[in-house]
Amino acid sequence: METRYPEEVNPWEAQVSRSDLAAKKLKLDEGLWKILREPSREIIVHIPVQMDDGTLETFTGFRVQHSIDRGPAKGGIRYSPKLTLDEARALASWMTWKCALVNIPFGGSAGGVICNPDKMSKREIERLTRRYTAELMEVLGPEKDVPGPDINTDEQIMAWIMDTYSMHVRHTVTAVVTGKPVELGGSHGRNEATGRGLMIVCDEAIKKLNMNRDQTRVVIQGFGNVGSNAARLMHRRGYKIVGVSTSTGGLYNRNGIDIDALWMYHKRNNTLVRFPGAAESGSAELLVTDCDILIPAAVENQITSRNADRLKAQILCEGANGPTTAEADDILADKRVFVIPDILANSGGVTVSYFEWVQDRQGYFWPESEVNDRLDHTMRTSFAEVLKATETHDVSNRIAAYMLAIDRVAYTLRQRGIYA
Ligand code: NAD
Repeated sequence: METRYPEEVNPWEAQVSRSDLAAKKLKLDEGLWKILREPSREIIVHIPVQMDDGTLETFTGFRVQHSIDRGPAKGGIRYSPKLTLDEARALASWMTWKCALVNIPFGGSAGGVICNPDKMSKREIERLTRRYTAELMEVLGPEKDVPGPDINTDEQIMAWIMDTYSMHVRHTVTAVVTGKPVELGGSHGRNEATGRGLMIVCDEAIKKLNMNRDQTRVVIQGFGNVGSNAARLMHRRGYKIVGVSTSTGGLYNRNGIDIDALWMYHKRNNTLVRFPGAAESGSAELLVTDCDILIPAAVENQITSRNADRLKAQILCEGANGPTTAEADDILADKRVFVIPDILANSGGVTVSYFEWVQDRQGYFWPESEVNDRLDHTMRTSFAEVLKATETHDVSNRIAAYMLAIDRVAYTLRQRGIYA
């Protein structure tokens, strides 16, 4: 297999190669695709932060708004030493497609700051977050662009963003971010929503492939918000979780890992290392370990032209954004792996973020059962729509998902007349 490394692992290139193909299959007007293909706004900020030792540092941050055609931009905030503008551009575009795919009235955005939160104190992260928010005051807002959590950001960080924004506009604006603590206008069910969504689409996939849940072995890469919640919920539903990993290593037990015990162990020790109920295993090794469902729920570019041919899973359910490269897509298609693409599989997070935004604006909060029921409905409907488009257009699940999404955004643009 020919590889285009490092181009293969550029998330923007990965996004563009799939969306270009989908636009072509849709026979989308060239001019219209020119508008939709590129992000509409890219902001770079250099943020001064006073560190705990009194020294001054500057950090570079981004906010990319890909589209606001279907509603306010919506997208995560990522803190990572490896964050690039191309990554933010890709994540912003994926959010546009994801929101259109699950039919919620948002556009797409993404952003974050190049920093290593593992080496910063809580106070330093707070100062960084507040300054980053202040720099973006003009472009954020419940009607403009609504951030949410992503890698290395959590409900505390969302609370600081909400507070900083509110200080500037001089009244409390809960709807400016999602993924907040429930006490500050967050939604019940948001914390587990992405993991719950993964479980729902896996349920649909095994039904389609006539597989039995209690004999279905699952490997999950990543034990953060997405991976740990997927593991816990799927374990409770009867799936056998045989492997999990974090950036510091993984665990494998062919008889299944006791995820509730692992959850407590991870909470206490902040690591999976030396958990007594499973053997140690490398994270890369786990990706090609024998299993039925593989859920990459960590970072981009984990399944590439270098390892795709060694995957054993029948179902690849993408919890992370962009875990599979375009080159790997072809190999997986040859192997007949059933792919549940990221923009569908992990859309439970933004779906419940939408519910949170609605509840904040209504000032009326729903019980968790209502949130979960609505999420269930959205995930199952979207899964069925993607499968139908796969058959209708005779394309992969991923290209079908892109086609559905791009068609919806293009339709809005035509109706609004931007393109006239
Ligand atoms: P997180 O920061 O909570 O967790 C990330 C996890 O990945 C950690 O356990 C980390 O140790 C692990 N990890 C990093 N590199 C790894 C490697 N090489 N091997 C194994 N594990 C590794 O982040 P998160 O919010 O869970 O997000 C994970 C992915 O899901 C990202 O791609 C994110 O964009 C996507 N996503 C998140 C949400 C959400 O609601 N948080 C929604 C949709 C998509």
